[in-house]
Amino acid sequence: MTNSETITHDVIIVGAGLAGSWAAMVAAQQGVNDIGVLSKIHPLRSHSGAAQGGIAAALNNVRPVPDTGPRGPLEPIPSGDQLVDSWELHMFDTIKGSDWLGDQDAIEVMVREAPDIIYEYEHLGCVFSRLPDGRIAQRRFGGHSSPRANYSKDYTGHVLLHTIHEQALRHGVKFYSEWYCMDLIIEDNICRGIVAMEILTGKLFTMRAKAVMFGTGGYGRAFKITSNAYANTGDGVAIAYNAGIPLMDMEFVQFHPTGLYRHGILMSEACRGEGGYLTNKAGDRFMENYAPDKMELAPRDLVSRSEQTEIDQGRGVGTDGQGIYLDLRHLGRDKILNRLPQVRELAIDFVGVDPIEDPIPIQPTAHYSMGGIPTDVDGRVLVDDLGTPVTGFYAAGECACVSVHGANRLGTNSLLEASLFGKRAGRAIAEFVLDGADLLPISGDPIAKNQERIQRFWDNPGTESIEVISQELKTNMTDNCGIFRDEERLLVARSKIAELNQRFANGQVSDRSHRFNTDLLMAIETENLLCFSEVIVDGALERTESRGAHSRTDYPKRDDEEWLKHTLAHRLEDGSPELSYKPVDIDWDKYPPQERKY
Ligand SMILES: Cc1cc2nc3c(=O)[nH]c(=O)nc-3n(C[C@H](O)[C@H](O)[C@H](O)COP(=O)(O)OP(=O)(O)OC[C@H]3O[C@@H](n4cnc5c(N)ncnc54)[C@H](O)[C@@H]3O)c2cc1C
Repeated sequence: MTNSETITHDVIIVGAGLAGSWAAMVAAQQGVNDIGVLSKIHPLRSHSGAAQGGIAAALNNVRPVPDTGPRGPLEPIPSGDQLVDSWELHMFDTIKGSDWLGDQDAIEVMVREAPDIIYEYEHLGCVFSRLPDGRIAQRRFGGHSSPRANYSKDYTGHVLLHTIHEQALRHGVKFYSEWYCMDLIIEDNICRGIVAMEILTGKLFTMRAKAVMFGTGGYGRAFKITSNAYANTGDGVAIAYNAGIPLMDMEFVQFHPTGLYRHGILMSEACRGEGGYLTNKAGDRFMENYAPDKMELAPRDLVSRSEQTEIDQGRGVGTDGQGIYLDLRHLGRDKILNRLPQVRELAIDFVGVDPIEDPIPIQPTAHYSMGGIPTDVDGRVLVDDLGTPVTGFYAAGECACVSVHGANRLGTNSLLEASLFGKRAGRAIAEFVLDGADLLPISGDPIAKNQERIQRFWDNPGTESIEVISQELKTNMTDNCGIFRDEERLLVARSKIAELNQRFANGQVSDRSHRFNTDLLMAIETENLLCFSEVIVDGALERTESRGAHSRTDYPKRDDEEWLKHTLAHRLEDGSPELSYKPVDIDWDKYPPQERKY
């Protein structure tokens, strides 16, 4: 790792998922012709491609058959008939889903522009599932009061990502596939570039740019049972934090109700959107007791807590009683094969169950990161609670916190968020660059600092296995900072992280080669996981209330008087987080906080 070089672009985007790809495509469309996009895995393996269920927008193509109630069968809305959905309804559902912690100005931008982004996808050739008359088909999703999930069978993320990646290539965007971003260079509150490793050779590069954007995705891999890809280690979040950017609302982690039992692999919410049941050991549809109106289509935080309660009270299934059944059999073979083919294959491959014949054993799984790098609605990263932007640094998608999801995200709102705020960031970046932004000098040698970080592993023979540290961290986060939290467990979580940090200092990287050193990358990723896990736990410990996905058994009620505010965590000199708070944007006349009931 001794050779170093400098690469320059007008714009560098870290992350080739939907957020990064949209930003690259749009900035290129607007006339920026020197854009580099880095991805630590092949761009098309970004986690966006794994999304199954759908992308939200109030298109008004489908409604429940009249007089069958809100859970009745769906039918196309005949042209000229009264519309059932609107951006206002989408907005209210999102605010309620967020347990009133979402910023309402940002939510309004998202839901108003949602239909346009779906049509833009369509015009770029995206293959959505269709109604018989050719309009885009829509299905139900949890917490949405109208069927507004637009989808492509259960491969939605795959088709969206391919569509935009193709367009970015067409516009001449340069992709650096299997390049790993290690560091962010900010001086005098101006972002000047990054430090990255070409994984194939292990060489470090300073990559200078007029604007840098992070679309580095979520941090679900901090948990033992997760639906997230191996790459979702929250690198961008940790890198930004270490470069002096605060992190926002990190304690809000979404647990999805239907991960495959013991694996965590996602069984899309589309399973319930299409009518699937959740049952316990006795065969009861227990959601009747928790959300009698919405049943299985209550929001994820509520359904996961209901499942966990059934499990904790001895009504779980599976050899250790830690599972629940997802029953699709009554949907019938045709619907399962046509609408949920990927889900069926995953269930057969990983737990040997064909959902056409048998119920699928599932359990809650860490799924989505509501918190992240604070931004405005144009992707500008904010460095303090007054809304001061860092010049030339942008973020969008799951690594960012804009904040449209607040304390709990509704399914299908994330593909929308990544696409829409990726697009807006791309536009803002183009404006910034075309307005004459400069390529500013970098003082010192940023490579040296990162080389030292690597050298530390070579110089220190170490006795602690980093793999073991990483596993212990994940178990700690799932057991002590999971669906249900309390002070006692959170304190255990905090001291365990301190212990793991100490052991990490004596961590062992046995592979010393330069080429494709996954051992070294795992060590860096583990250091990142340790870094922001501490922020998650501290935020959760301080927040003495239950709101959305943050559920404290010792403080079971939402406390608007004290806690209707966003958490910001700043990194202190000694590496520990310091918490401060900032107000939520609320339209008190239109959408004042209410009790959240389903
Ligand atoms: C299984 C699954 C199913 C889902 N289904 C849905 C759904 O149906 N509807 C919905 O709305 N949402 C869904 N979600 C959530 C949604 O897919 C994600 O929130 C969204 O796609 C995130 O997009 P992104 O562009 O922010 O990040 P990602 O798509 O995760 O991309 C992150 C990118 O950053 C790169 N990267 C990260 N760190 C580094 C580094 N250090 N150096 C270089 N590159 C780096 C990665 O290589 C990757 O290219 C699902 C999520 C999962 C896990």
